[in-house]
Amino acid sequence: MTAGAFSLVFVVALAATLAARLWLSRRQIAHVVRHRDAVPAAFAGRIGSAAHVKAADYTIAKEHLGEIETVVDAVVLLALTLGGGLAALVAWTEGIGVSPLWRDVLLLFSIAAVTGLLSLPFAWWQTFRIEERFGFNRMTLTLWLTDLAKGIAVGVVLGLPLAIVAVWLMKNAGALWWVWVWLAWMGFQVLLLVLFPTVIAPLFNKFSPLPEGPARTRIEQLLARCGFAARGLFVVDGSKRSGHSTAYFTGFGRARRVVFFDTLLERLSEDEIEAVLAHELGHFKLRHVIKRVAWSAVLSLVFLALLAWLATQPWFYAGLGIAPDAIATAMSRPGVALALFMLALPVFTFALGPLAALYSRKHEFEADAFAARNASAAALAQALVKLYEDNAATLTPDPLHSAFYDSHPPAAIRVARLASLAAAP
Ligand SMILES: [Zn+2]
Repeated sequence: MTAGAFSLVFVVALAATLAARLWLSRRQIAHVVRHRDAVPAAFAGRIGSAAHVKAADYTIAKEHLGEIETVVDAVVLLALTLGGGLAALVAWTEGIGVSPLWRDVLLLFSIAAVTGLLSLPFAWWQTFRIEERFGFNRMTLTLWLTDLAKGIAVGVVLGLPLAIVAVWLMKNAGALWWVWVWLAWMGFQVLLLVLFPTVIAPLFNKFSPLPEGPARTRIEQLLARCGFAARGLFVVDGSKRSGHSTAYFTGFGRARRVVFFDTLLERLSEDEIEAVLAHELGHFKLRHVIKRVAWSAVLSLVFLALLAWLATQPWFYAGLGIAPDAIATAMSRPGVALALFMLALPVFTFALGPLAALYSRKHEFEADAFAARNASAAALAQALVKLYEDNAATLTPDPLHSAFYDSHPPAAIRVARLASLAAAP
């Protein structure tokens, strides 16, 4: 491959990804607009027309912001690669009087800083314009900035050792460095699964045991049936930041947790809480977290092997904006190959998005079926309808947009399947 040919492949892939993203967004908006005036038959009498219109307008507002961000991201990526941005950062770090390892770590952090900084206006607009306008935002600017500072601190504390280990192994671990980096990366993933629920999430929110109440006994029976420790059940003060509500399952081993947003508990009946808990326990019993980690292990090994090969090809550097006279330097610095790879990879993996989304939706269907067996399918459907309404989630997504992006099945399909499970003997 020549540098020019690879540049062309990259630009074509970038343009195709950009066009696909914008086209899917246009489709989503058109579909939601077309169904804005009528609540779908399956939800008639369960969701009011005002709530339906609000969900449509909220979905459209988010899509519009997403389109602008998609275009800005593409321009930034071009500027960093073919525009010479990364080459400039390489030259800048080359002139700093620190060891080669720290030069590379600095390079990786400066790219993270540039892309992070450019995403800030979008995050601000999302919270203080869109969420605010639809009555969801409960954050002050102070809290938003505090979250940001904490997020950066967590990113540095976790990212710094990871970057140091990766760059060091790439330089010193021999031809099979990518296997060692893979082992370190998987160790890091497992560590995150333990640290996220126990250390990181509590930096941002307060987690309390589920309060005593009439539902408690039934919930404990359900937990016992599923072999899940009751101390793994928490309520989080999600209302501190937003009016959105949800429940989720996270972690593994002793760090596994089911977490309910306080906003969700306020809205659901006892039956519905039990059904949502049964769904989350389904993710636990069916080992969905472990399966996802296993998949990401396979994929990251493939990608690291690819990176190991690309890092030895001069056209990979030259094709992504490194000038001919800087290629020898770039090839001696593992951080450069790593940075270019992380920047360029999403352009080529965008087409895999639907597979990941499909896999996630498969797990959601499985967890719903588990909930139907261990609690009530009808109660879970009722809880979901309340969730769609409270979160202003659209009931009428574009099928193609949904296939590409949605981690959860579309509302109508999911509720219909629960209804058939409820009707089954
Ligand atoms: Zn789920």
